[in-house]
Amino acid sequence: MADKYEQVIELAKRRGFLWSSFELYGGTAGFYDYGPLGAMLKRRVENTWRDIFVINEGYYEIEAPTIGIEEIFIASGHVGGFSDPLTECQKCHEAFRADHLVKDVVENPDTLSADELTEIINKNNIRCPECGGKLGTVYEFNLMFKTTIGPGGKRVGYLRPETAQGMFVDFPRLLKFYRDRLPFGATQIGKAYRNEISPRQGVIRLREFTQAEAEIFIDPRNKTHPKFKEVAGIVLNLYSQEGQIAGEMQKMSIGEAVKRGIIAHEFLGYCLAITYRFLMRVGISAEKLRFRQHMKDEMAHYAADCWDAEILSERFGWVEVVGIADRTDYDLKAHAKQSGTELSVYVPYDKPKKIERFVVKPNMGILGPRFKGKAGKIANALKALKPEELKGDHIELTVDGEHIKLEKEAVTFETVTEEVHGETVIPHVIEPSFGIDRIIYSLLEHSYSEEETAGLEEEKGEKEEKRIVLRLPPEVAPVQVAVLPLLTREELIKPANEIVSMLRSAGILVTYDDSGTIGRRYRRNDEIGTPCSITVDYKTLEDGTVTIRDRDSMRQVRADMSGIADNICGLIYSGKPFKEAGTKV
Ligand code: AMP
Repeated sequence: MADKYEQVIELAKRRGFLWSSFELYGGTAGFYDYGPLGAMLKRRVENTWRDIFVINEGYYEIEAPTIGIEEIFIASGHVGGFSDPLTECQKCHEAFRADHLVKDVVENPDTLSADELTEIINKNNIRCPECGGKLGTVYEFNLMFKTTIGPGGKRVGYLRPETAQGMFVDFPRLLKFYRDRLPFGATQIGKAYRNEISPRQGVIRLREFTQAEAEIFIDPRNKTHPKFKEVAGIVLNLYSQEGQIAGEMQKMSIGEAVKRGIIAHEFLGYCLAITYRFLMRVGISAEKLRFRQHMKDEMAHYAADCWDAEILSERFGWVEVVGIADRTDYDLKAHAKQSGTELSVYVPYDKPKKIERFVVKPNMGILGPRFKGKAGKIANALKALKPEELKGDHIELTVDGEHIKLEKEAVTFETVTEEVHGETVIPHVIEPSFGIDRIIYSLLEHSYSEEETAGLEEEKGEKEEKRIVLRLPPEVAPVQVAVLPLLTREELIKPANEIVSMLRSAGILVTYDDSGTIGRRYRRNDEIGTPCSITVDYKTLEDGTVTIRDRDSMRQVRADMSGIADNICGLIYSGKPFKEAGTKV
């Protein structure tokens, strides 16, 4: 029997959600096309994400190039270290992720070096999964697609492996846009490219995929969130570091987890909350979602805390779909160093502060005649001295490799009280990073169901005993309404077309279907997740009413044709209960 993945992919292919790319030429692993329904589903999922991150949180969206210059990825560490360990079969020359091949014999294989992996493969006599051949020495394979910019091939470029860098590079412009005030954030939805070694998991591991990322720049001294109270009560499945050691997941409110120090701070907790809300809105099942904290040896050395939203899939188990990290000041510091531009923010205090400052004043009357052209440099070195360095009988310092000994009269010093109005900080970055394709697959799997329908009133006359339904939330369903004349008769087709026009004018995506029995047409729409269907029959001609049928319950109500667009908009966008759409049939 086909497993859930096969069932979902079969439906997705047949009905135009997902197609293997380049099929005409035999296809290539790691690439998928979104067909007409898939592309629309994806747009709607992205728009739900926009609604939360851009409209609700106010993190404007930007659009940076998908090709980046080399400097960016040197700074980000991708040129040096964005790699996976590769081993090649010496017989059939197939390439494999070495860490995947050893996962049954060691724990946390992704923390091992290439040499350690080679040793484990040899010691355990792990062979090529395809042909049983001997595997070669493991080496690190950089996952970035390399290209050149302009003719001549001199300037190296890379297809971006994440959208994040676009926001970091634009930091100075964004800071001005947000009028120099923290916190602020920018988002980007777009393609990312990773030359994955051997992608064999369909849409879960792609070489070209879509990310939706937010980079939120916050004051490092204040990681609270003004709206935290609103989300503190949300209960999540948390799989914390401790939980993983004990092998148990906990249900806990975000407020409690922050209070107990399990989630590092409010800002991160808030991001977990809006991630949860987004995933619920697009149709992920709450019980198949958990937030797993990165273990200490798995977390990047600079990260303060990191959680992955993982979704349970029948074939792949728990799959990471979102990473939410406090990346501290790592990225801005790296780009500041690489570009030679300071990336920081001046933060004014609410009230000026008085501070005591130690000031050294070099005596140029002594330094000038004695050191001539070098006197300025020596004066600067003296200004940088600390009180304890001025305690002895002499002052000793080294300037340009020369050891200099000065008498105490060469300087005067004092402690002055100054009023300061603010300070310069390097913002910390909170990064929620979503893999849209994995979310699309997961919501298809979670909303897919096969149901027995025998004996149902409305299905009379239909032979099939099962119906396939995609229980997609109306907000993301690609086709929002099906309009179905009961019979292909001119007198019914005409009002049906009028309804189609009214709905289209209201911005609703409608399908018109008049071929086959009504039961069959309901089925066709059930399996693409169309939330409701409108049937035009002879009663419509008598009293101007139509039947509206609900996909999930298969219930029907009778409603006026005149107000149909508002009625349907209520069902799709405002969560109006179906029974309020008309009178029971
Ligand atoms: P990362 O930067 O590796 O943490 O990735 C961020 C998100 O992008 C992950 O949570 C995934 O959902 C998604 N992602 C990463 N690699 C791939 C891939 N090869 N195919 C599809 N989605 C991916």
